[in-house]
Amino acid sequence: MTWTYLNKEFLRREEVKISPFDRGFLFGDGVYEVIPVYEEKAFLLEDHLARLGRSLNSTGIKNPQKWNDIPGIIHELVKKNAFSNQSVYIQVTRGEDSIRNHIPDPKVQPTLFITSSELKVNPYRLDPQKKGLEVKTLEDPRWNRCDIKAVTLLANIMAMKEANLEGNDGVIFCANGEITEGAASNVFAVFDNQVITTPESNQILSGITRKHVISLLNNKGIKVVETVLKLGDIYKAEEVWVTSSTQEIQPVTKIDGRELDIKKSYKDCLWYELLTSYFSLT
Ligand code: PMP
Repeated sequence: MTWTYLNKEFLRREEVKISPFDRGFLFGDGVYEVIPVYEEKAFLLEDHLARLGRSLNSTGIKNPQKWNDIPGIIHELVKKNAFSNQSVYIQVTRGEDSIRNHIPDPKVQPTLFITSSELKVNPYRLDPQKKGLEVKTLEDPRWNRCDIKAVTLLANIMAMKEANLEGNDGVIFCANGEITEGAASNVFAVFDNQVITTPESNQILSGITRKHVISLLNNKGIKVVETVLKLGDIYKAEEVWVTSSTQEIQPVTKIDGRELDIKKSYKDCLWYELLTSYFSLT
C-alpha cells in the first residue's frame, strides 16, 4: 500500500484525488523535488527544500500553507511507506483555478502533493563492473529556464523515449555543440585527471548531487573545473559520469554508439571512489 499526502492530510493512493481544474493538470503549472531517503533519513533535505523554495519564488507560485511542516510530513510519510530507502516526490502546483485561463486568479491557492516509492540500490554499488550506461546526445529542445525544477517535462520525456527505443539508457542534451546536462541528470567528464562539469546557468538544473559531488571532490583536494564541455571532446574523455538524486553517480561508457576508450579499471576510476565515499560528508 502506498501513502500520499495532499494539502493537509495523509491519504492512501486509492483515495487521493486532484481536480482537473488544477493548473498543474491543465498547464503543467507547477514545480517539484525528488529527495532520496536512506534508512529513513532524507539525504541533503535542506538543499532540496531550498531549491524548491527557489523554484516557487521564480515561478511566483505561493508557498503551500504547510510549507514549514514539510520535513515532518516527509518523516511521517517515510515511516508509513515502510521501505528503508525511498524516493520522496514533492509537487507544488499553482492550484485549482475557477476556469482555464493562462493568467492565474490571484486568489488561487497552491496544491501540495507528496508521495514516496522504494528507492532501488544503485546497480553500480552492487556491481561496479557492470557495463556503463549507453547514452544518446540530442540537441537540447528545452526552454531557457531549466534552472527551475518545473513539472513541465514533455521535452525530456520525448527525448528519453526516443533514446530508449533505440536501446539507450539515457540522454545527454547539447546546445550548439556544448553539453548542457542529461535529460534527468548532470554530466561530469575527466580529461588528463581534470574533472569538468557544465557551469550553472539557466540552461541546466543546479543538481543537488552535482553540488554534493563537487564538495566530495574538493574534500579530496580535487578541484572541479566548471566550464564548457564540448560534445566533440566528450568521446575522448577518460571517464564520463552522470549524477542525480536517485541515480547517485553512474558511469557512462557509450555515447552515440561510440564506445569510450576507458583505459582504467573501475577501481582506479573517480566515479567509483566517489561512490564509495558518497556519505562521508553527512
Ligand atoms: N538535471 C535534470 C534535468 C534533472 O531532471 C535532474 C534530476 N532531478 C538533475 C539534473 C539532477 O538533479 P539532482 O541531483 O538534484 O537530482
